[in-house]
Amino acid sequence: MKSITKRTIVSLILAGILILGTGIFVFNFFTKGSEWASYPANSHLYTNGILNSGTLLDKDGAVLADAHDGTWSYHDDQTTRKALLHTVGVPDGTIYTGAITRFAGKLTGYNFLTGAQHIGKDGNKVYLTVDADVCRAAYKALGSYKGTVCVYNYETGEIICLVSTPTYDPAYPPAISDSDPNYDGVYVNRALSASFIPGSTFKLITLTAALEEIPDVTNMSFYCGGSVDIGDKTITCTGTHGDISLEKALNVSCNCAFAYIADMLGGKTLDKYTKETGLTDSYSVNGISTKASSFGFKDDPAGEVAWGGVGQGHDLVNPCSMMIYMGAVANGGKAAVPQIIEKTTLQGGLKTGFYIKKQTERLVNSATAEIITQYMKSNVVNTYGESRFPGLDIYGKTGTAQVDSSDSSNSWFVGFIKNEDAPLAFAVYAEGGGSGSRTAATIANTVLQEAVKSVSTEEE
Ligand SMILES: [Zn+2]
Repeated sequence: MKSITKRTIVSLILAGILILGTGIFVFNFFTKGSEWASYPANSHLYTNGILNSGTLLDKDGAVLADAHDGTWSYHDDQTTRKALLHTVGVPDGTIYTGAITRFAGKLTGYNFLTGAQHIGKDGNKVYLTVDADVCRAAYKALGSYKGTVCVYNYETGEIICLVSTPTYDPAYPPAISDSDPNYDGVYVNRALSASFIPGSTFKLITLTAALEEIPDVTNMSFYCGGSVDIGDKTITCTGTHGDISLEKALNVSCNCAFAYIADMLGGKTLDKYTKETGLTDSYSVNGISTKASSFGFKDDPAGEVAWGGVGQGHDLVNPCSMMIYMGAVANGGKAAVPQIIEKTTLQGGLKTGFYIKKQTERLVNSATAEIITQYMKSNVVNTYGESRFPGLDIYGKTGTAQVDSSDSSNSWFVGFIKNEDAPLAFAVYAEGGGSGSRTAATIANTVLQEAVKSVSTEEE
């Protein structure tokens, strides 16, 4: 009797393991099947190691890239090809964020019911959310600067513009040597896969923490005498602002006021807000992971924390995560997670697969978001000039990030527009662009004008 019980238990355990194992296999089959099938050794989908079918289109149906018998052809216009290099990608996968390799399974038409067997010669159509015209405008506006422009709809998650420079023409790839400064980081998508010193755009995070943690901070007065000593550091300001309010401190981007606030808050609290605002998150853009921002607040001494609070020190911010935070502020605390795939269809037009819109966690309280929104508007009205953004109800913050004492500084502009038809958040970054208000804000206006046109005409 005893041994029968024992055998039963052993059988049950074995059966349990079998069921568990089958479960794991089925789960992996469903979730990773397209990855397995699109592995380069699979000759159904690859010719000489190159993905051999599929069409990539922009949101309006412009063909961005098209595969026939193992050869990829690209958009007719060279500027468009360059503007979309980091979004479209190249068949050998050297650009991590490129759709050609990231969405290989979707392009070839692999699915878990019929596997790769049913696949037609031409594969599927993958429509991206980007607008090729807006991306081209962004590439032109960046000019010779290395940097990025990203714009997305914070209600739906659709990325309208995703451009990174330097770039090259994928139809005629140049010979690129590692030491060539013109191609510094050319394979990196600066919006999704990189992080940079944020400069004064980070004051928006310090502001968030101040509004939440310091009672009555909106009625406090701060003194700027041109510099302030905190810990063993002297934090210098770009002006001598005298006695100023919190709002005015943001308008004139006063380093002394924000260094003082950072010191009041302390490194641990600022560290908490880099997490709560989602900056240190790695987001999944249809499976493409973004780089998390990083900071030194947890361990830094007071002087470094103060520099960190004004956006220097050990701060490194990913442009996409900053854009998402801007979307959350605009949207009352939560924003849509960015998406790059609009839809996938068979060549005949029948939809395959569906994409669920995702929301971020709450990144900021709605009452705090309201005050930040108000202050970002007064930045535009009092400092940058509303007339520079004709027709746009824009809210923004510039940044001019010092990389080292000798180099020219990097130009940032982040923010959002309020527009029922075009609820857009953005991040613009230009290396060596100097003043954020001069360079990045001008680029932002050019691109947003195109983006609003693109999104607003969509529904009609
Ligand atoms: Zn100042």
